Formats: sequence, structure tokens, C-alpha cells
Amino acid sequence: MSRLSIVLPSYNEEQNISVTARTLSDLMEAEKIDYELVFVDDGSKDNTFLEIKKVSETNLNIKGGTFSRNFGKEAAIFAGLEMATGDAVIVMDCDLQHPPAMIPKMWEMWKNGAEVVEGIKKSRGKEGIFHRAFAGLFYRVMSALIKMDMNSSSDFKLLDRKVVNVLLELPERNTFFRALTFWAGFKTETVEYDVQERKYGTSKWSFGSLLRYAISNATSFSTLPLQMVTALGVISIGFSLILAVQTLFNYLTGNAVEGFTTVILLILIVGGFIMLSLGIIGNYIARIYEEVKGRPKYIISDVAGDVNGNVLGAWKKRER
Ligand code: UDP
Ligand code: MG
Repeated sequence: MSRLSIVLPSYNEEQNISVTARTLSDLMEAEKIDYELVFVDDGSKDNTFLEIKKVSETNLNIKGGTFSRNFGKEAAIFAGLEMATGDAVIVMDCDLQHPPAMIPKMWEMWKNGAEVVEGIKKSRGKEGIFHRAFAGLFYRVMSALIKMDMNSSSDFKLLDRKVVNVLLELPERNTFFRALTFWAGFKTETVEYDVQERKYGTSKWSFGSLLRYAISNATSFSTLPLQMVTALGVISIGFSLILAVQTLFNYLTGNAVEGFTTVILLILIVGGFIMLSLGIIGNYIARIYEEVKGRPKYIISDVAGDVNGNVLGAWKKRER
């Protein structure tokens, strides 16, 4: 019998763990699906891990781990994939904003041969206007950079074991789970869902963390910003040629003293372009630096339930 693993990244979700665990296990039992729930506590400051331990003691199909500190949702997803043993793995938020009612449908699609089932947001649920505008901009830029439609995509997905193994073999540390499944390919189908409202707790995203997430994903998935630096250079060379002709003309006709405004503007504009370009290049160098250090994506400090013991404080050393 095939088994379904459900991976649930959790950060400061103490109010959600038991409700989510009960909702999902009731659903799996009603649908007669052999399942396991993998909760990954992303270094929460509240009692999330205690809650995970509690539910794992009452239900043998539940297991999980906790990080030594907050490593971010990407890391939590990858730790969950590493701990999952199922033939298919679903990744979903643990605040029930991704409707569990979609799971039986995704499972059916997998049984009928789909290797990736992408959850597509039909509506985005309740979000502040600021958040919505920023998310909209972020996904438009991302879609252009990655050349994939990211606007309605989400982290709610089902992956076949083959796909999970591909993702786990990737040597890079800076991952963007949402786009990596597009990148990996495989037989992909989609299901549409409505984002539910959060019942307990609050969203973990602040404007700052969204911005960092956006920049990190854009640089880890595309080199287009670097090519934009070249384009900026070409544009300013074009302008400087025109200005050179004008300046020489003024000099030869004896009007060279004027044009102070032009000089100031040029210094400001060119200076701005150079700083911006340095920033973009610097960002990529920072990414390379982080990758080269080869530090792990996460450190697991404790586990709950039936988890392979050697994940504790250890990580795969990958050959380069
Ligand atoms: N999350 C996480 N680590 C973080 C931030 C969030 O594991 O640093 C988890 C969180 O517990 C939730 C999911 O990622 O299960 C989505 O987070 P949230 O609900 O805050 O985001 P939103 O739904 O508002 O986009
Ligand atoms: Mg949420």
C-alpha cells in the first residue's frame, strides 16, 4: 500500500498544531489513506515543539523535529522532505490556510500518474492591501525573471518520491521550493484552491522579511539582474557619446564654461547607476560566498516520534 507523507513547516504555531494534526489524521482515516504527518518546528519561540511532541505521542503516524534556531520556511520544507518516508509527499502550511479537503483529490491524481500536483491559488484570501500589492509586484517580477507564471503558485504541492529525491540531491543551499518544482519538470498537474483564513496566530511575514525573501529568490533563480547591469552600462555609454559631442562642440565654439548643471546631473546619475550595479553584483557575490561556505540549510536539535536518529545535529556532507 502506498503511503502519503504530509510535511508541515511550523513557526510559532502552538495554537495550530493539535487542531491541524487532528483535522488531517481524521481526514486520512476517513479516506483510508496510509499517511504520516511530519511537523518541522522552525525554531519557534513558543511551545510549538512541545505540541508536536504531544501529538506524536498520541498518534504513531505523527513525527517531527525542531531546529536549533529559526532557519526559515524553505529550510523547514527541506527538512520535512528529508524526514518523509512516503511514496508521495504533500507540503502544506500548518495553519490550515491550504485546504485539507484538496488532499484526497491530489492523492487521486498522483495515483493516476501525476508526478507533481501544483496547488494554484484561485483567490488569495484575506491580505492587507500593502501585502497584496507587494506580493503582486514580487510575483510579476519573479515570473519575468524565471520565465514561469508564479502569480498563483504556492508551496501547497504534492510530489512523487522521484521528485523529492531530485530536490534532496540538489547541492545548493539557497533554494526556492515554489519554483524548483517547475524547474525539475516531471508530469505536472494542477488543482485550484481558495486560500482559507487563518484561525489562530498571525502571519509570520513582515515587509522586511518579504523583501529579503524576494531578493534572495530573484538572485538564486535568475542572472537577469546581472545582465541588466550590462544594459545600464550600454545606455550610459550611449548618453556619454551624445554629451561628448555636445561638450566638444561647446569647447570649440568657445562656450565651454556653461553646463555646470549637466556636470552635476551626470555625476549624480552615473554615481547612482554605479552604486546600483555594485549592489546587484555584490548580492550575487554574497550568494556565492554563502554557497561556497557550504554550511547546512538547517540544524535539527531534537526530534519527536519515529524519526531516523541520525538527522540530529547532522547533515549530509555533499561532495563537490
Ligand atoms: N513558517 C516557517 N518558518 C518561518 C515562517 C513561516 O516555517 O520562518 C511557516 C508557518 O508556520 C506556516 C507557513 O510557513 O505554516 C506559512 O507562514 P504564514 O502563515 O505566516 O504565511 P502566510 O500564510 O501569511 O503567507
Ligand atoms: Mg498562513
